[in-house]
Amino acid sequence: MLPSGALDFFTNLIGKENVYSDKAHLIAYSYDATRERFEPNAVLFPRHEQDVSDILKYCNEHRIVLVPRGAGSGFTGGALPANGGVVLGFEKHMNKILEIDMQNMVAIVQPGVINMELQRAVEEVGLFYPPDPASQEYSTIGGNVNENAGGMRAAKYGITKDYVMAIRAVLPNGDIIKAGKRTIKDVAGYNIAGILIASEGTLAVTTEVTLKLLAKPKMTKTAMGIFPTVNEAMQAVYKTMASGVTPVAMEFLDNLSIRAVEQTYHKGLPIEAGAILITDVDGNLEEDLDFQLEQIKKVFRQNGCSDFKIAKDKQEAADLWFARRNVSQCISVYGSKKINEDITVPRSALPELLEKFDLIAKKYNINIPCFGHTGDGNVHTNVMVDGKDPEQIKIGHHAIEEVFQTTIDLGGTLSGEHGIGLSKAPYMSMAFTPEEMALFQSIKRAFDPNNILNPFKMGLH
Ligand SMILES: Cc1cc2nc3c(=O)[nH]c(=O)nc-3n(C[C@H](O)[C@H](O)[C@H](O)COP(=O)(O)OP(=O)(O)OC[C@H]3O[C@@H](n4cnc5c(N)ncnc54)[C@H](O)[C@@H]3O)c2cc1C
Repeated sequence: MLPSGALDFFTNLIGKENVYSDKAHLIAYSYDATRERFEPNAVLFPRHEQDVSDILKYCNEHRIVLVPRGAGSGFTGGALPANGGVVLGFEKHMNKILEIDMQNMVAIVQPGVINMELQRAVEEVGLFYPPDPASQEYSTIGGNVNENAGGMRAAKYGITKDYVMAIRAVLPNGDIIKAGKRTIKDVAGYNIAGILIASEGTLAVTTEVTLKLLAKPKMTKTAMGIFPTVNEAMQAVYKTMASGVTPVAMEFLDNLSIRAVEQTYHKGLPIEAGAILITDVDGNLEEDLDFQLEQIKKVFRQNGCSDFKIAKDKQEAADLWFARRNVSQCISVYGSKKINEDITVPRSALPELLEKFDLIAKKYNINIPCFGHTGDGNVHTNVMVDGKDPEQIKIGHHAIEEVFQTTIDLGGTLSGEHGIGLSKAPYMSMAFTPEEMALFQSIKRAFDPNNILNPFKMGLH
């Protein structure tokens, strides 16, 4: 319930067309990609930064919970109003590319800009914004920054944090701040932008982002390696990355993932293979790309690769990428419930990690198909169970706990890209000491003493 007078205040401030409180809209804004459901009490669409400030000031004074929301494509419940309150959306008004500064190679955007729109706009003028989450057609820059999204190109180009130069944001008390500058170097003061990135909307509301751009490479080539075992493929991954070439992407599918795609689409995939690796290289000179592919082929062959195919044209490249692009939905052949994690380890730990996941699957007699961005050590680990059987769900959660413990023991992290939100909050104490959690908590309090901004996410209260 909102305090009496709250809806009138919001309506007077931003107009009734920017305040939704009818049931249909509240239901529409109660989901994200987790498929959990929590209804807000209202959804507000600020027209500009000053509206955000006025709304936050009011919410803070009246202790109303506020949850910022991008496209709601998050996998961990970050944008869900688990404690009611108001959801703040940016898709109606604060969704503009404000500037593309060609001379300094930066873009300045509002939080509701869709990732792909930005990519297209900068590519039209010969520039390049590399972070490309698979949700790029709909996820927003506000959501990408607050989850520190990664994508297929992260092996070479890094993730969202590597492109954020400055953030304008509104604090829960309504104060407007700017963290960072349109400069390559800036070492004055604390790195507040660094704290805001991946903060999952728990510290401040992002109202503007300054992003670094690169020159667009002229060409890309794609290749695929087939391996008898996962272990050999994982050896090939880290040895290739340390061999003097840096592929744009180094993606993998294990045997269960290959079989799931083949069962669904009948593409003639190598179903006996232990794993496949798909790799892209880019640059400006054909000879450079050919050199990179030769080097990758050499390392792959040294590590058991039985077949290495190079795509001759765009269609063949799309064919090589097909299995990776479609695997996520195909693995439902192994169970109606997927407990999907995105753990990440140092690349050299990948062979041991996947061997241990195999042992966990055998111990619980379940399937754990794995695929993902091995070029940056990030593995999508999918514990598949029967969603209608409570016993299976319990088993799935035990398996996930072991997946996390194995990852942490190998020097890895609970999440490489999807964040913590609600789903992974119970596991934070496995990954962080009480002292580290207390430090997170005091940072949260410094920004948000009344705990009104996206409370209880990331295991914070
Ligand atoms: C099919 C699919 C594929 C995906 N692939 C990838 C992938 O390859 N890589 C990857 O990293 N992720 C991926 N994701 C997850 C998701 O798309 C990303 O986390 C994305 O960054 C979320 O963006 P969004 O706009 O949907 O944000 P939301 O889900 O709406 O919000 C995410 C978080 O950001 C906060 N937030 C949003 N806007 C603001 C703001 N203006 N100020 C403060 N906080 C804000 C929210 O409160 C929430 O905590 C995928 C999701 C799907 C459904």
